[in-house]
Amino acid sequence: MPIHDLLYRCPLCDAETTTFISNQTSCLGCKTIFSNSIDSQILVQPQREPAYLTSAHMLTLSMEKLLKARFDRLSNPDQSLLRSEAIMAIASEYQPVYLKKELMGYTEVIRGGTAGHLILSKSLDFVGEKGVLHHWNFDQIKSLQISSDAIQLYMQEKGLHQFKLIENSPKLWEDNLKLAISRYYLKQNLEIFSYQPVIKTRRIEI
Ligand SMILES: [Zn+2]
Repeated sequence: MPIHDLLYRCPLCDAETTTFISNQTSCLGCKTIFSNSIDSQILVQPQREPAYLTSAHMLTLSMEKLLKARFDRLSNPDQSLLRSEAIMAIASEYQPVYLKKELMGYTEVIRGGTAGHLILSKSLDFVGEKGVLHHWNFDQIKSLQISSDAIQLYMQEKGLHQFKLIENSPKLWEDNLKLAISRYYLKQNLEIFSYQPVIKTRRIEI
């Protein structure tokens, strides 16, 4: 994963980061530069402080905290949290997978694609030129996973939907969507205890 897809926002100040170089990204706010270093460490070079090495894990933890704070600050719950250009495709059929003539399982065949925007607000919507094409409530999303350029969601009774993101990082979507879904359930006193292979919730004991 290019460093920009991992650090899609600055772990220090929450501003957006640049996308130009695959092994380096810099913050548009505080101008800190983040680059891949040895042993999967990341070199952090703040503008006015000495540079230091840290792990990707520490930086993504800090991003999670900032993301939660941003969600808490939202005054208008109707405003959209994320909007990304995407190509949507739906798995239309399943093909058997054989290994030495033995049936191992099935794989989804994803065909076609519709251009539009994926919008996260208090629901998830896919909007095309003529308006809203799909609208999903968070409890319709049964599982989510990401690849290098797409997020895949399994929608209840509607099957697997793939959104190939044109510019934004799939991890940006995974983090925001997980937080939005968990807050949706929290309002019903439910907590998510598993995202894989499917989203599972349990009642919070008070
Ligand atoms: Zn910054």
